[in-house]
Amino acid sequence: MKNILILHTGGTISMLENKETGEVNSAETHPLTVVSDQLKTFANINEQIIFDLPSPQITPNHMLELAQKITEMISDYEAVIVTHGTDTLEETAYFLDLVLETEKPVILTGAMRSSNEVGSDALYNLISSLRVAIEDKAKNKGVLVVMNDEIHTAENVTKTSTSNVATFQSPQFGPIGLITKDSIIFHRAPQLIHSHPINKVSKNVILLKAYAGMDGQLFQALYPASPDGIVIEGLGQGNLPKNTVEPIKKLIDKNIPIVLVSRCYQGVVQPTYGYEGGGKRLKEMGVIFAKGLSGPKARIRLLIALEKTGNINILRNIFEKLDY
Ligand code: ASP
Repeated sequence: MKNILILHTGGTISMLENKETGEVNSAETHPLTVVSDQLKTFANINEQIIFDLPSPQITPNHMLELAQKITEMISDYEAVIVTHGTDTLEETAYFLDLVLETEKPVILTGAMRSSNEVGSDALYNLISSLRVAIEDKAKNKGVLVVMNDEIHTAENVTKTSTSNVATFQSPQFGPIGLITKDSIIFHRAPQLIHSHPINKVSKNVILLKAYAGMDGQLFQALYPASPDGIVIEGLGQGNLPKNTVEPIKKLIDKNIPIVLVSRCYQGVVQPTYGYEGGGKRLKEMGVIFAKGLSGPKARIRLLIALEKTGNINILRNIFEKLDY
């Protein structure tokens, strides 16, 4: 049997429902460590609780700590499973996808219903992850997210519903594989496998979302803070309201990288429109177009890239040469 490491970080998958109040919260004993016997029929398991945090409290420094733990321990295991709250699971998954250097499967999973709720998906998702982790074909696929009988790439997956168990989807591209009662089916492979190890996360990258009527206020408010980078979820193919252009230009003049993604959940940004605030004009002004990433993931990408370089042209290449 294979040796699998399970690292618990918290989230609903680590919680229980109080039957009197309905409140869902951390339990004294981790609800999944008491079902280890069921897991042992699939593999030799070592489980560790590395954090007990709801995922809104997970920061990039926790992600780095998790990456360091995986790097330190992975040589003794055939695969690693990380259990995580679903709210920021996609950010941790993408962070690990970018920084880890391993061909072995690293799988994130979570749950929408805690272990003692009716219809809980906690144990089910953990066992599904284990079934994927022990498959040789799960190697070399980058970091994967296994939820609700589907396998997703860290790069594409996103939480789409507040409470439905089918919340994790990969808009535009779909899941990379399926889990059935008796098989694990991969139907495509990721185009790019990353490995950009870092040993600190020290930069301040802000994420803003564009809206009809947006003006310069939020950008001007950032002048004194002088962040290391800004990601903007722009409109449509990559456009912004015209009153944002001047303040953004001032930030670019201060050598702050401005990365643009779309607030649309499908498609990629491209410099099409020539009107004031249109993508073509933004690109000519120096805005970097991030192909195919959501705002939160472009922010993770920029945080990691900035640990290596502040050079705008190198950063532009990192985001614009993504191979789709
Ligand atoms: N709010 C919870 C968290 O992300 C939700 C979950 O775990 O699914 O920790």
